[in-house]
Amino acid sequence: MTTSVSRIVDHLIDDEQARFAASHPRSAHAWKTGRRTFLYGGPSHWMRRWAGGFPIYVDEARGCHVRDIDGNNYVDFCLGDTGGMCGHAPEAVTRAAVRQLERGTTHMMPTEDSLWVGEELGRRFGLPYWTLTTSATDANRGAIRIARMITGREKVLVFSGCYHGGVEEAHVELRDGKMGMRNMIHPNGFDHARLCKVVEFNDAEALEAALMDEDVACVLMEPLMTNFGMIPVADGFHDAVRAATRRTGTLLIMDETHTISCGPGGYTRDHDLEPDIFVAGKAIAGGIPAGIFGLSRETAERLWQQIPHVNPRQRQSSHFGIGGTLAGNALTVATMRAVLEEVLTPENYARMHTQAERLAQAAESVIAKHSLPWHVTRIGGRVEIMFAPDPPRNAADFRATRRSDLETLLHAFYMNEGILVTPFHTMFLMCPATEPADVDRHTEVFARFVDKLTDAGLA
Ligand code: PMP
Repeated sequence: MTTSVSRIVDHLIDDEQARFAASHPRSAHAWKTGRRTFLYGGPSHWMRRWAGGFPIYVDEARGCHVRDIDGNNYVDFCLGDTGGMCGHAPEAVTRAAVRQLERGTTHMMPTEDSLWVGEELGRRFGLPYWTLTTSATDANRGAIRIARMITGREKVLVFSGCYHGGVEEAHVELRDGKMGMRNMIHPNGFDHARLCKVVEFNDAEALEAALMDEDVACVLMEPLMTNFGMIPVADGFHDAVRAATRRTGTLLIMDETHTISCGPGGYTRDHDLEPDIFVAGKAIAGGIPAGIFGLSRETAERLWQQIPHVNPRQRQSSHFGIGGTLAGNALTVATMRAVLEEVLTPENYARMHTQAERLAQAAESVIAKHSLPWHVTRIGGRVEIMFAPDPPRNAADFRATRRSDLETLLHAFYMNEGILVTPFHTMFLMCPATEPADVDRHTEVFARFVDKLTDAGLA
């Protein structure tokens, strides 16, 4: 990219951010005020990542529609980066939550709803033994702890470009073939060199070589990557992963926190994967904080050998290092039941996939009309637009072809035009309430973005 092109894009971003500031005075003021009390301006540091320059402050969100405190309306394809995949304020979840709020939310004792939830998790995802946590991060932490306990090994292997939450083991990436810390954040006293391995996604040979020493407790992976661009899985890769992990006594943890958008049983069920531990979170309780992990029978039996069921007659410590006091609380369980019973149903998945296909096809037509070297990937209810001709095979590919400047410009333009997408890359998620008109609104905005680039001589 030439300097003059990058200067034009920079100017266009400045223009979009100025337009955003002008049409969002209340949010701008709120953001300024928030910086007085919050470390990074908002209650969570993620909230500072929006390309308009600051986040919108939300007045109300329903289905896939959001209204901000300035009265601007949006079609939301970010959906809380999947936490809102059930749609905002889904009626069934609200009903279940209100009912449970009136009966007590957390007492460290189970409710009968949990029996239904346990059965349903097993039926959907195909693993028999479950634990609830308060987040996907926490579920991953628990899963890793168990993998280490039962294998007696220390290392965890992840794929470069992954994200699995605040799990130290996953904060590594490959740069020029060497492992380094992702984003160069502080190592936090954690010996990544000793405890982690990282290989590129879709690289079966590298994976096999990394597992050969039989020192890896578990491979922690998404079935396709959704956190560094959307990276589809190559044919045969899952078979290779499963064969190599089995051959080397390594456990396989499938993190379906995002890919649960593929279908009612996640990608795992759709493709008959056989993880030893299955993890999900975010959307699973309709926006109430929750994570889940499920163990195969063999994995559970190995764990019970290490940590047997507690005998309540003995006053022993039952600290386990897994989950928290609020894990599996009555409110979470009630809303999880509502989600599994009434929201994330096969019919609603079909609707989400249909709208995702509509969005992908329309975006492809816009790209084709202008003969742009861009592509669109759809997997289940998720779509990604990338400014490169072909889907990346791995993080290195994505890094090499990524046009961060155009992404920022597109995202700032979207915010001004009433479209929300995840701020980290150009990924769209459907919810059951997403209608064709919502998708068509995106198509129209995207087409205007391309016109704008053409006018500026950039496309
Ligand atoms: N796993 C995956 C695949 C994720 O994408 C994320 C968050 N983006 C997490 C785990 C962590 O989720 P949480 O921040 O809700 O703990």
